[in-house]
Amino acid sequence: MMTTWRFPRAGVAGWPAAHSRSPIINGYWLKTLGISGAYERFEVRPGEFGKFAERIGRDGLIGVNVTAPHKEIAFAACDRHTAVAAALKAVNTLWREDGLLWGDNTDVEGFLANMDVSVPGWASSSESAMVIGAGGAARAIVYGLASRGFRRIAIVNRTHAKAVAVATEFSDVAVVAPWDSLSREPSGADLLVNASSLGMIGQPPLEIDLGALPQAAVVSDIVYVPLRTSLVKSARARGLQAAEGLGMLLRQAIPAFERWFGFRPEVTPALQALIEADILVVHEERR
Ligand code: NAP
Repeated sequence: MMTTWRFPRAGVAGWPAAHSRSPIINGYWLKTLGISGAYERFEVRPGEFGKFAERIGRDGLIGVNVTAPHKEIAFAACDRHTAVAAALKAVNTLWREDGLLWGDNTDVEGFLANMDVSVPGWASSSESAMVIGAGGAARAIVYGLASRGFRRIAIVNRTHAKAVAVATEFSDVAVVAPWDSLSREPSGADLLVNASSLGMIGQPPLEIDLGALPQAAVVSDIVYVPLRTSLVKSARARGLQAAEGLGMLLRQAIPAFERWFGFRPEVTPALQALIEADILVVHEERR
């Protein structure tokens, strides 16, 4: 017997997917916008993503977000990619169109939108940046900074070879800076971004001296657990403008929701408070 789905479904696929806050974000939007739909978690084991992706477009499943460790394998499973996904070779949003599986990467849009809201005018006269990290998020950020006119981006990463790989990929704008440049003060950069896991609860702290950054420099940390990282606090204590990571998480979800459900949702203070409360509860439980 064929099952008829009464409403569209989306969800997040990961291994694990249990920690993802996407169901809270998308559930909030479905409810407040009055849309009859559902957003679920899909625990998809490594090696099983291809089979899972065949479900997209069937049984009411209109699309999914993709999280670790599947972003690259999901890219490979797609028939078509948006330009940004093609450049990054990793996707976090999937949907089916005319039978073809499409993939997008909304981390770039999420990062840039959060910077625009948190520090208006942040990129208007900036040319140089230092990005800490060389993983998936760092690559998205380097791509985004290049799109906003940054001309020199120094990549600092614990594993030198990975920094070299990112700098080679974005050779028009990116260069490698040595790992010890963090302790030697990141001088001269208009923007400093932490795109590594350092400073996250359960990870080692990010040890960095902000003393030599110009007074007009902007600092951004994409880590959002804790909500206000030591990097953000130190930057503000020095009088620098700083952006927190939660805004990126919330805003990378907007384009996916709009694509699936046809409404562009907003990051409201109520949504922000809902996610902050969830993070604080989990944080307290881990103490
Ligand atoms: P990833 O691909 O696994 O990259 C992790 C990065 O952190 C690598 O550069 C890694 O360096 C570095 N790192 C990890 N442990 C380290 C340590 N002990 N010492 C020095 N460097 C270390 O992860 P990702 O997806 O890029 O995510 C990076 C961080 O950004 C995570 O904390 C994640 O939660 C956060 N994030 C936030 C958002 C948001 O929306 N706010 C979005 C994406 C990611 P090596 O190359 O040396 O291993």
